[in-house]
Amino acid sequence: MAKLYVVGIGPGAVENMTLRAVETIKKCDVIVGYTPYLEYISEFIEGKELFKTGMRGEIERCKKAIEYTRNGKDTAIISTGDAGLYGMAGPILELAEDIDVEVIPGVTAAFSAASELGSPIMHDYSSISLSDLLTPWDVITKRAENAAKADMVITLYNPRSKGRPEHLNTIIEIISKYADGSTPVGAVKNSGRANTEIKLMTLDSIEYEFVDMLTVLIIGNSKTYIKDGKMITPRGYENKWI
Ligand code: SAH
Repeated sequence: MAKLYVVGIGPGAVENMTLRAVETIKKCDVIVGYTPYLEYISEFIEGKELFKTGMRGEIERCKKAIEYTRNGKDTAIISTGDAGLYGMAGPILELAEDIDVEVIPGVTAAFSAASELGSPIMHDYSSISLSDLLTPWDVITKRAENAAKADMVITLYNPRSKGRPEHLNTIIEIISKYADGSTPVGAVKNSGRANTEIKLMTLDSIEYEFVDMLTVLIIGNSKTYIKDGKMITPRGYENKWI
């Protein structure tokens, strides 16, 4: 029986894909994905049947991937990063009936960015998407407020689009009620792929114009600091090694 694989391809560059993701894509007959993401894996999909759509074509892609699988073709539907975080794993499992689905994990943007910034996550953290297409804005602000109250490291996905340029400012204001203005904030654009740009800022000096939909932000907790250009959140070992 054919199978549907939901594959996280990592942040973009082929070397940041898992071996399992590469092998799964290579063995599938059909690849379904958002057009620009298929370019990241172009070397593995030559000669395969492709189904591509633009932005906001998620449900169409899901339905099509399920249909290909039902028709007996091993199919991979791809997400960047990890398919289980703001990706295709959820909607596929919600929609799929009578087909075999396997989710293949990938390196999510925040962890790729974290490796480029140093070790800013390291401890308890909270991931928040600022996209209000599927989540009401008041739910997003409430979660940001609670994450800041709990002194979590906070990763922000979908941080700033043209349609809602002020959302990030609002979220930073909310977080700033609980966190010091000097809290380090790392921003990485195009993490783990060509043209990576890295910026270290603080909560009170965010360069809003730098941030776009290709950027992920990592806001430190009250213990996060910068050392030699690296953003570090201590785990607590300092009490052990003195
Ligand atoms: N499933 C993806 C997230 C999709 S949501 C993952 O696990 O990474 C889309 C958001 O992810 C973007 O707006 C951006 O905030 C972030 N993102 C995805 N890839 C990125 C990359 N290579 N560099 C920086 N941010 C990225």
